Amino acid sequence: MAKITQLLPNDMDLAETLAGRVNQIRNFRNLTVRDLAKASRMTVARIEDIESGLETWLSAPDRQVLAKALRVEPIMLLEVEYRPPEASEPEELSTVSLAMMEELADAVLHGVRQIPCPRCQTPMNCSAQEAIDLENNHIYLPMAYCPKCPFVLK
Ligand SMILES: [Zn+2]
Repeated sequence: MAKITQLLPNDMDLAETLAGRVNQIRNFRNLTVRDLAKASRMTVARIEDIESGLETWLSAPDRQVLAKALRVEPIMLLEVEYRPPEASEPEELSTVSLAMMEELADAVLHGVRQIPCPRCQTPMNCSAQEAIDLENNHIYLPMAYCPKCPFVLK
């Protein structure tokens, strides 16, 4: 199957927000809000909410249908979505196992700094923070957090 994203010109300057990008691709496809609503089985009001920035992220099924209606890969929408930390689904966090957390902590303590986020693969901000434990020993605490998703090393 041919890649549907090839239908967008390579030099197209894509908007950096979900609202801007949906609006931009919709216009590029010559679709009205009503057309897009129909193609994605969403309401006109919903499309308007997305294009006005009221909705900044989509559930996976919504992203799928909207991307399909816009004839782009879902990643093109996902990459500009913004999900506030409190809106994240807790079950996603649990997919990062304790063993993985320990491995991460170990890597950070050994000076590895280019660690991809276990959830979204974005390079994380990592550091080892000097601290004093209850027995007055100098210890290092591994710190790592993802700049893109709510993942934090705990
Ligand atoms: Zn992440």
